[in-house]
Amino acid sequence: MQIGTSDLPLDDCIDAFKFLLREAYGLEHAEAFRDRLTEPAEKPAHVLTEGIPAARPGGLAPEAEVEIDDPPLRATIDLVRYGDSGDTLIEFKSGAPREQHRLQADLYSAVWVAATGRRVRVRRILYLNAPPTELDGMDQREAGAVLAALRTRISAAMTDLKADVPPARPNADNCKHCPVRQLCDEYWTATSTADLRWRPSALQLDGGWRDIELSTTGASWDGAGFSLRVPGDQETKLFCSVPPKYRPPNNKDFRGARLLGVALRANGPALEVVWSARSEMFWLT
Ligand code: SF4
Repeated sequence: MQIGTSDLPLDDCIDAFKFLLREAYGLEHAEAFRDRLTEPAEKPAHVLTEGIPAARPGGLAPEAEVEIDDPPLRATIDLVRYGDSGDTLIEFKSGAPREQHRLQADLYSAVWVAATGRRVRVRRILYLNAPPTELDGMDQREAGAVLAALRTRISAAMTDLKADVPPARPNADNCKHCPVRQLCDEYWTATSTADLRWRPSALQLDGGWRDIELSTTGASWDGAGFSLRVPGDQETKLFCSVPPKYRPPNNKDFRGARLLGVALRANGPALEVVWSARSEMFWLT
């Protein structure tokens, strides 16, 4: 049997694999792979809270979809293998192992336990190019603890959404990739994000790329950029070249700048900012 073309993308290959599993062991109400290819993406998925095939030791439930109301969560588990002493939950991943995969496994497992009343014996995350991750099982009590924590987070998120301006909650994982961190004052002062920024008073020239906020008050300008004393170190000068596209018509209009993704290097007794194609600069008024 052939599905798709020989240059099928990896995720489609995984989908095809799941389809074959489903064909062999399938769910009566499950979506078919063919349907996925032809139907609009916004089509709501089936909710299979009651459509999971009868549990029998060794039986498989591919793409098992489970949903609970409190907290409101739905999970589509790539593959469940039923067992006498608990079920094995399997997730297929095409990328590198990440902490989020473990968190997702916790969530899926807790929803599975709550929705089916069945114990999870073991959880496996299978990677294409990395060793599998095996996580402990989960019983009703552990699932209850996971869901209680999620209930609290969902409640807090709903409260934030109702606020006019949701509060910023800086943390390194989220802020690292945040495209608006230049606007977020909390990010620039939070201890939890300190490692993402160059600290002028404690510069560690390790070749990394970080963000930095510079005050231009008292800076001396030339055609290529500005120089200033490193805060907390009146002996050391820092030169910040300013790429032409960021040069302001009048530098007196600004009190400083936030630079994203720059490096610092020593140039004799001074330091200078190093730019990459991904570095950005935002002026502060
Ligand atoms: S930089 Fe600010 S807005 Fe962006 S993720 Fe961090 S806290 Fe949220």
